[in-house]
Amino acid sequence: MAPILGCIADDFTGATDLANMLVRGGLGTVQLLGVPAPGDPVPDVDAVVVALKSRTIPAAEAVTQSLATLEWLRAAGVRQLFFKYCSTFDSTDDGNIGQVTDALMDALQADFTIACPAFPETGRTIFKGHLFVGDQLLSDTHMRHHPLTPMTDSNLVSVLGRQTRRQVGLVQHREIEQGDGTITQAFDALKIGGKSIAIVDAISDDQLHVIGRALAKLKLITGGSGIALGLPANYRQAGWLGDNVVADQVPSVVGPALVLSGSCSAATLGQVATFAKTRPTHQLDPLALAKGPGAVDAAIAWAKSKLEEGPALIFASAEPNVVKATQDKLGRAAAGDLVEQAMARIARTLVEDGVRRLVVAGGETAGAVVGALGIKGLLIGAQIDPGVPGTVTMGTPRVALALKSGNFGTPDFFEKALRVMP
Ligand code: ADP
Repeated sequence: MAPILGCIADDFTGATDLANMLVRGGLGTVQLLGVPAPGDPVPDVDAVVVALKSRTIPAAEAVTQSLATLEWLRAAGVRQLFFKYCSTFDSTDDGNIGQVTDALMDALQADFTIACPAFPETGRTIFKGHLFVGDQLLSDTHMRHHPLTPMTDSNLVSVLGRQTRRQVGLVQHREIEQGDGTITQAFDALKIGGKSIAIVDAISDDQLHVIGRALAKLKLITGGSGIALGLPANYRQAGWLGDNVVADQVPSVVGPALVLSGSCSAATLGQVATFAKTRPTHQLDPLALAKGPGAVDAAIAWAKSKLEEGPALIFASAEPNVVKATQDKLGRAAAGDLVEQAMARIARTLVEDGVRRLVVAGGETAGAVVGALGIKGLLIGAQIDPGVPGTVTMGTPRVALALKSGNFGTPDFFEKALRVMP
């Protein structure tokens, strides 16, 4: 049978996070990496999540890739589409959330969709259109210093309004509290008022389930992975999905383990520090990377000397002031590229050398690593921490991968991932 849900995710860890949510909801899920080619086989699963690396590329390119993916998913016969972005709404005024949403709506001839990055389980809530991370407004958190998508405005109606040709409205918490009938009415009222995208307040999983019921008829849903919470119930209601499905079984993988961290998020910095207390670590400095391949060669040689004894960590993660000083010297994009290319080469060389379990921190970083490994797809296993499942590559050699978006995970995430990974 054709997959029920087809998802287009704007980065790799975000895709994994959504796939994790779908598996927990009982949908057998495969994550494909990169735009599928027209003849690529359609996996026999309930949901396909296609991971792009389109969050920070030029908007026109993000649109082209998203539309090509949409075409493949429609040809695969999916019944509903989901455009997934980060629960911290990572984007700039140049895009890409609004531009991609516009293009998908045009292609689907969808007259209405929602934009809801809420993910209460990880502290992302939306109240009166404002996105909170834990107890703080988004713009008061470390996200204002993000290397690629600094978020300095928490009002999602404004943020998205600057990115889309469409008018953006808001469905407020008081309407959410009235239930899915009222939410549907609110959607209709917005449509009559000329608004075709609604930011939707949500502060709890219960609310996400209620909102989910109001999404059954939408061709396209956009948001973080939290909003996927309510979707499996719709599919069961429609008779497309069984009741007691175990969706997280994957083959187990043994072999040397490596952790790579290119994320500079506060959570990752804490995880690097925690791991460093008990495991060997090696730091990559973008300024050294800029001088030539020697710094990467040295990191690879270092890892080879350590991995027989147990897991080791290579990281470029640095405090915001250090990142800024580096970016001032190299440029923001160039510094990011250097680190991503370094992580990619390290991963490729060491997997060729026998590494079979990899933990990667950072969305862009993970994208670069899986690209370098030539991985086409991932089987999604059990959850390590909210938003992050253990995965195993499709094809050979099988490699166990944990791909973590910067903001996610407890301080002991790296160690926990190595324990939980299949
Ligand atoms: P996150 O998931 O935390 O956003 P990403 O990997 O998506 O992490 O983004 C972090 C970006 O910062 C990447 O492009 C990475 O290459 C870059 N980066 C990592 N370390 C440094 C550093 N020390 N200086 C400058 N940029 C860095």
